[in-house]
Amino acid sequence: AKAAGGSVFTSYRPDMRDGLVERLELENDLRDALERNALRLHYQPTIDLDTNEVIGFEALVRWPHPTRGMINPLDFIPLAEATGLIVPLGKWVLHEACRQAVEWSTEAGGRPLKMSVNVSVRQFDQTDFAETVVAVLAETGMSADCLCLEMTESVLMTDTEANLEQLVRLKALGLTLAIDDFGTGYSSLAYLRRFPIDTLKIDRSFVERLGGVLTGDTALTDTIVRLGKSLGMATVAEGIEEFGQLAALREMGCGFAQGYYFSRPVPAAEAGRLFMEGADT
Ligand code: C2E
Ligand code: CA
Ligand code: CA
Ligand code: CA
Repeated sequence: AKAAGGSVFTSYRPDMRDGLVERLELENDLRDALERNALRLHYQPTIDLDTNEVIGFEALVRWPHPTRGMINPLDFIPLAEATGLIVPLGKWVLHEACRQAVEWSTEAGGRPLKMSVNVSVRQFDQTDFAETVVAVLAETGMSADCLCLEMTESVLMTDTEANLEQLVRLKALGLTLAIDDFGTGYSSLAYLRRFPIDTLKIDRSFVERLGGVLTGDTALTDTIVRLGKSLGMATVAEGIEEFGQLAALREMGCGFAQGYYFSRPVPAAEAGRLFMEGADT
C-alpha cells in the first residue's frame, strides 16, 4: 500500500505535494511510526553548575523517517498537536523516558537521575493526564521526584482553572514542574505565584545574547535568575554554546545548564555513557 501510495503522486508536480496532501501523508506516516514503535528519543544532559555533574537529561523526540531522513520535532510536533496524535505520542515519550531513566539509574547503582519530559498543552487538556502519569510511573518503576515535566507558559494562560487543578494534582504526586522557554511568553508574575512551579528554564534567546556587548541583554537574564531565586524556584539555562555564556550564568547564580557547550542531544547509548562517566568523577 505504501509503494502504491507513493506512485499516485508521480503525475503531480512536486510543488503540488505541498500543503494538504503533504500534510495528510505526513500524518499517516506519523501514525504509522507510532504504531510501529519507530520514534526515538535523544537525550541532552543537564549540568549542575555547582558540581559540574550530569544530574540528568531532557528527553527530545526524534523521527527517523524511512524516506525523508531524520525529521526535526519542530516539523512534526505542531502536526501532532493539530491532529491529536500528540496525546499517544506524548504518552510514548513519557513512558520511554521514564523506562530509560530507571534503567540508567539502576546501572549506576541507584544514583538518582532527573529526567525532563516536554509536555504539550494539548496533553494537559486531557482530563485524565494526571492518571496517565501515575500509570506510567507505576509501569516503569520511576520515582515521581526524579521526573520533571516541562510546559510552556501557555499552560498557565489558557484554560487557567482546569490547568491549575491539573498542575496541583501533578505536584501532589511529587513531580517537578518546569516552565520551558521562560521569558518568551506573556505569563505574569501573578501566574508564577499562583501555580505550583518549581523550575524556570531560561530560553536560549536570552543566553544567546550573554556574550554580547549590550549590558541590557545581561540584565534581562540576571533578572530572570533573581526572579527564580526570590520565588524559591530552580533556574536552568538552555542553549549554552560558549564558555563566556557559562561564566556569566555562574556569576549570576544560575543553578543548572544545558547546551551544545556541554553536549548536543545524543542517542540513548551515548547518553548512558555520559551518565556513567559522571558517576566516576
Ligand atoms: P525545547 O524543549 O526548548 O528543547 C530545546 C531545543 O534546543 C532542542 O531542539 C535542542 O536540541 C536545542 N538545543 C539544545 N542546546 C542547544 C544549543 O546550545 N544551541 C542550539 N542552537 N540549540 C540547542 P529539538 O530537539 O529540535 O526540539 C525542538 C523543540 O521540539 C523542543 O524545544 C520542544 O519544544 C519540542 N519537542 C521536542 N521533543 C518533544 C516531545 O517529546 N514532546 C513535545 N511536546 N515537544 C517536544
Ligand atoms: Ca524543553
Ligand atoms: Ca526550552
Ligand atoms: Ca525552545
